[in-house]
Amino acid sequence: MLRDLTPRAQELKDNLLDFMDRRIYPSEAVYEEQHNEGDRWDAPPVLNELKAEAKKRGLWNLFLPESELGAGLTNLEYAHLCEVLGRSPHLAPESCNCSAPDTGNMEVFTRYGTEAQKEKWLKPLLAGEIRSAFCMTEPDVASSDATNIQTEIRRDGDEYVVNGRKWWASGAGDKRTKIWIVMGKSDPEAPRYNQQSQILVEPNTPGITIHRFLPVMGFDDAPEGHWEVTFDDVRVPASNMLLGEGRGFEIAQGRLGPGRIHHCMRMIGMAERALELMIRRAADRTTFGTRVIDQGLIRDWIAESRIDIDQSRLLTLNAAHMMDTVGNKAARLEIAAIKVAAPNMLLRVADRAMQVHGACGLTEDTILPKLWSVGRILRFADGPDEVHKAQIARMEIGKHL
Ligand SMILES: Cc1cc2nc3c(=O)[nH]c(=O)nc-3n(C[C@H](O)[C@H](O)[C@H](O)COP(=O)(O)OP(=O)(O)OC[C@H]3O[C@@H](n4cnc5c(N)ncnc54)[C@H](O)[C@@H]3O)c2cc1C
Repeated sequence: MLRDLTPRAQELKDNLLDFMDRRIYPSEAVYEEQHNEGDRWDAPPVLNELKAEAKKRGLWNLFLPESELGAGLTNLEYAHLCEVLGRSPHLAPESCNCSAPDTGNMEVFTRYGTEAQKEKWLKPLLAGEIRSAFCMTEPDVASSDATNIQTEIRRDGDEYVVNGRKWWASGAGDKRTKIWIVMGKSDPEAPRYNQQSQILVEPNTPGITIHRFLPVMGFDDAPEGHWEVTFDDVRVPASNMLLGEGRGFEIAQGRLGPGRIHHCMRMIGMAERALELMIRRAADRTTFGTRVIDQGLIRDWIAESRIDIDQSRLLTLNAAHMMDTVGNKAARLEIAAIKVAAPNMLLRVADRAMQVHGACGLTEDTILPKLWSVGRILRFADGPDEVHKAQIARMEIGKHL
């Protein structure tokens, strides 16, 4: 049942598979080449060509569940397509306007934005004309506990004044990014979960300084990148507040459910790609008179990888199905479980694939180091493993005591 697709979703998947074969995979090298020659913080021309083609094919905004603004797929249906997008993680999701952090931000605008906010920012985001960032994490506090966030958002007449320092804001320095969603404290005296608000800030507002990008194990992840920024008496109109003062935590919770599972869906596709590369390489090389693929140990790794991937896929599809049927809140244990399982699974599979490639597996001649780095990132991003496990344990213990 988890694997059955409606005819429409199947048609979209076939269309996407064809797009991947004909256009995405052959463009990967072109993308890298143009990227290295041009401005790294802007889109290489091939990306814009791919976006135009995806739009024409109807492979656009596939992620927005049951909404007339997107393809109208359920989370379960999108899971099957998102996995395919994950096979080329730095090109396919954005080509189809399905990449983080825009997807999470578009969901926030759709659910919580005013009509004026939607008109100004959601519309161009849905059209793929601009990009966006989400600024929550701060260098000075343990940000996996969102109640720690210190940035100040203070009302002053018709404006709010923002002061603070953020880092790891993905996409904040991308030249195409025109809006940031910033989380901060609007009332430190309010009850714990009502202290935070989320407000919209345009990156060219006076008082903002973009200090540096933070490479991830050597990768700059351009053109988005991950950035450290400060807000020094940054003034924005009061109408830029999202949902209302003190409701930032509520928005953060709503945003992270779908965002987390999208990452997991993509990581299944990344692991499938790593396994395919591992098998092809092992079949190509011979040591001590035996093909690497005929070594029992290597076959064990191949089998373990298949088991790893299928376990994670079923957990992901189950979580997506629960989100569709009982809602994101009731599915939080399943979402937390897959958020732990998928990155660790990807790390294991990518590591085996790198080992089979020999020293080549550590070079950028293959996509493997990039795939591995995504797995490593996602053991932190959208919440570290330990926080999700603590939540799962709490719920599990609650069932029995
Ligand atoms: C590539 C990348 C992109 C990112 N993009 C964004 C972005 O766009 N916007 C944004 O706001 N943030 C972003 N982040 C930040 C990310 O969400 C945070 O790093 C994450 O939430 C953890 O916060 P922290 O780094 O402050 O770790 P801390 O909160 O300091 O936690 C450190 C460690 O403490 C341990 N720990 C914490 N809580 C518990 C617990 N309950 N039980 C046991 N151990 C615990 C864990 O081992 C954890 O890893 C990104 C991070 C990376 C690496």
